[in-house]
Amino acid sequence: MLKSSDTVKRFTDKPLLAEHGFSALVDLRDAGIRILWDAGVTRIALLENAERMGIDLATVDKIALSHGHYDHYAAMTDVLEKIAVRPSVREWDADATIEEMENWAKGRSVPFIAHPHVFRERWKISERTGKKYGPIIIPREDWEAAGADLILSEEPYRLGPGCWTTGAVPRLSLESAGIPTNLAYRKGDEFIPDYLEDDQAIVINVRGKGLVVLSGCAHSGIVNTANYAREISGVDKVWGIIGGVSPGTIERGGYSVRG
Ligand SMILES: [Zn+2]
Repeated sequence: MLKSSDTVKRFTDKPLLAEHGFSALVDLRDAGIRILWDAGVTRIALLENAERMGIDLATVDKIALSHGHYDHYAAMTDVLEKIAVRPSVREWDADATIEEMENWAKGRSVPFIAHPHVFRERWKISERTGKKYGPIIIPREDWEAAGADLILSEEPYRLGPGCWTTGAVPRLSLESAGIPTNLAYRKGDEFIPDYLEDDQAIVINVRGKGLVVLSGCAHSGIVNTANYAREISGVDKVWGIIGGVSPGTIERGGYSVRG
């Protein structure tokens, strides 16, 4: 994370590029682990902004994906190519094997944590005409070729000390989350309403403060997400919530909150 004074200076000297999309860097400094959370939309904005903020993407240790919506992953192949960089020169001992050299030449792989349903074949269906638009498919092979070492988990996954992805978030509260109604995924010949079961968040237990919940879109509902973060971590206090909160509705005893 940048100190606030640095942030202000960088914004003044070299303003960041804006686009519809989301990406964040989690820097667990004590553990020496850097996690890229989502990858925006275009390489233009993401790679340029990383450079302007002084972030060397080759220092990223892990990637985690909040869910399979393009505004969170579209620049991923380009980002992976920056993260899983191949060293340009290396000297070898005389007893090095061909296999060692081939593995080196492939570049390094990066642990990549996501819910398995991010790879669903998604479609948009016009509510007015019923016309289907798609398919929208994540280029899984491209990601793997670019160095993604996929770890697909529906359960919480420990990214580092006091830091987890939530996996699927139980939707227990009265909150009706921001699920777009015009999305479906295809299973065989069937088009099934897409409730974005792959939605997850990152939870970080910050020493002396409490939990920071870092959402993607929070399609499972931000109240559900924060409650589940407390359950996973065993820490009661939520100190901060950062990230997207899709419009949802909470109805309780005649009182309603709309986001
Ligand atoms: Zn989304």
